[in-house]
Amino acid sequence: MLTCPNCGLPIRLESLACENCETTVMFDPQSLTVVRLGDAENAQGAALAPCANRTLLCNWAVPADAAQNLCFSCRITRRRPDGSDPASLEHLAVSYQAQRRLLIGLADLGLPVVPYWVTDGGLAFDLLDSTTSGEKVMIGQANGVITIDLAETLDAHREAQRVRLGEPYRTVLGHFRHEVGHYFSWQLVEKPGGPMLDELRELFGDERASYQDALDRHYSNGAPAQWATNYISEYATMHPSEDWAETFAHYQHILATLSTAANGGLRLVPPESTHFFDEMIVPRDSYADVDFSVALRDWRWVASFLNRANNAMGNDDLYPFRIPETVVAKLEFVHRVVRSSHTETPFVEAA
Ligand SMILES: [Zn+2]
Ligand SMILES: [Zn+2]
Repeated sequence: MLTCPNCGLPIRLESLACENCETTVMFDPQSLTVVRLGDAENAQGAALAPCANRTLLCNWAVPADAAQNLCFSCRITRRRPDGSDPASLEHLAVSYQAQRRLLIGLADLGLPVVPYWVTDGGLAFDLLDSTTSGEKVMIGQANGVITIDLAETLDAHREAQRVRLGEPYRTVLGHFRHEVGHYFSWQLVEKPGGPMLDELRELFGDERASYQDALDRHYSNGAPAQWATNYISEYATMHPSEDWAETFAHYQHILATLSTAANGGLRLVPPESTHFFDEMIVPRDSYADVDFSVALRDWRWVASFLNRANNAMGNDDLYPFRIPETVVAKLEFVHRVVRSSHTETPFVEAA
């Protein structure tokens, strides 16, 4: 559990200081723990220093003797606004935050994050701002490079897009989780040409199908009428690659939120009258060692509770989706793919 190194209370992933005792802190990506800003050492006893982008609200740490003064997350950002327009730096800070949360989620899942400086086709992020550059930015992934339009950090823009496209959910973090899905499909399933590739095509369709045709069809006809029985979202119906990326994003949404619930100590006690679940629901920090059906059982009740909690505040559902049986099979496949590549040292600094 992430706790304040001074007072021991739970602390947010993004915190620069504890909300309770005001101790200034940083997040150490190597140990995945929160440490004091001042005299902190990591598990290997090396001194830690704050990332030079702390002015952009980055709370990650770097080894004090490292050659560079930017953290792993800030360095894996390959292109970003130069700061000549102050507005773009505000957008960048929001995007950086989502990117760090993405990376921590991947580390929690044990997925290897191999950056572009280690290998050709390694992961890189281009965070480009169409609002200040005036240039069109296409959100996407190609050869390991994930491009995000910083315009998506603006509530008015993002919400207008969400309504225009009829989406129940649209967040910057969601974009990151979707695009990284394309990267991991390429790295873990398609690239080795291994036994999982056949299964990928059986479940999602042939990823080699023409993307342009799919795009044209989707934006002129929309999703097929009965889409909800086979897909997690309308966008997933467009192309097998998008179905995989949407499913992979949901896999991360579900496990990250269950992990947060576990860290917060959430327990759901079944009401006496129900026959739906007869034992207490206790979310786990990790579901790596169990069948994905365990995660889905827990998620069903945790999501149902969190939706009602959101509704109590006058907000829409936290998780405005239904998971049909066909999608359960796709999520189980994602679970097996993720487990097949488990690593204990997710953030790879050197070859
Ligand atoms: Zn504290
Ligand atoms: Zn940083």
